[in-house]
Amino acid sequence: MRADENAPSREAGSFVALRRRMVQVQLAAQGIYDERVLAAMLRVPRERFVPADLQAYAYQDQPLPIGYGQTISQPYTVAFMLQQLRLGGNERVLEIGTGSGYGAAVLSRLAAEVYSVERIVELGTAAQERLYQAGYRNARVVLGDGSLGLAEFAPYDAIVVTAGAKVLPLPLANQLAEGGRMVIPIGPTLTEQHLFRFTKCDDSLDSEDLGAFAFVPLIGEFG
Ligand code: SAM
Repeated sequence: MRADENAPSREAGSFVALRRRMVQVQLAAQGIYDERVLAAMLRVPRERFVPADLQAYAYQDQPLPIGYGQTISQPYTVAFMLQQLRLGGNERVLEIGTGSGYGAAVLSRLAAEVYSVERIVELGTAAQERLYQAGYRNARVVLGDGSLGLAEFAPYDAIVVTAGAKVLPLPLANQLAEGGRMVIPIGPTLTEQHLFRFTKCDDSLDSEDLGAFAFVPLIGEFG
């Protein structure tokens, strides 16, 4: 049950209006067409995943700092990446880079099981608590180096990596199920990253270049 998403508060009405506007103006009007992604982002209270002093900016068309040199991605980027996973609702999904937990919250509305790995203990712990408090019981945060994937629950029907790798991390490729999709930014430097979708077919990976994006670096053994 997503118990607390609609908890009443003095600001709730204005945040709902801002969220609706974000979905219309920043997502649907900019080419996000997956109705399930749009519906999920209409429900998840982004203001609860940003630092308290930045809540007023939660629905602006930009990434925001969440501490420890990290960011919560721009709403369009979140929607674009999740749309590329082509989720129907029954999947087991791995997210690398929990950050604030916002992406995991949206994913928990799009898939059956969500595992999210974060290397910064303080961020991962706070995100797990936030997800629990908001009632997202099918999303679990694991602390560690996500470039190694999460072998314990593999294989995954979908993997999304929210930090830029220099090359495709081999453990992630190995943990993708047959027919599974992985969306990951890859590039030699932060200014040269492109987002790729890999689809596993007959044990090999088909790749598609989805265009230029900029992410914080994936730091780890296979980063
Ligand atoms: N999905 C996040 C959200 O909704 O807030 C945004 C994530 S932020 C753009 C990227 C995150 O990846 C950061 O929190 C960073 O600490 C994390 N990260 C970087 N390298 C990592 C690694 N090897 N394993 C796990 N997390 C990593």
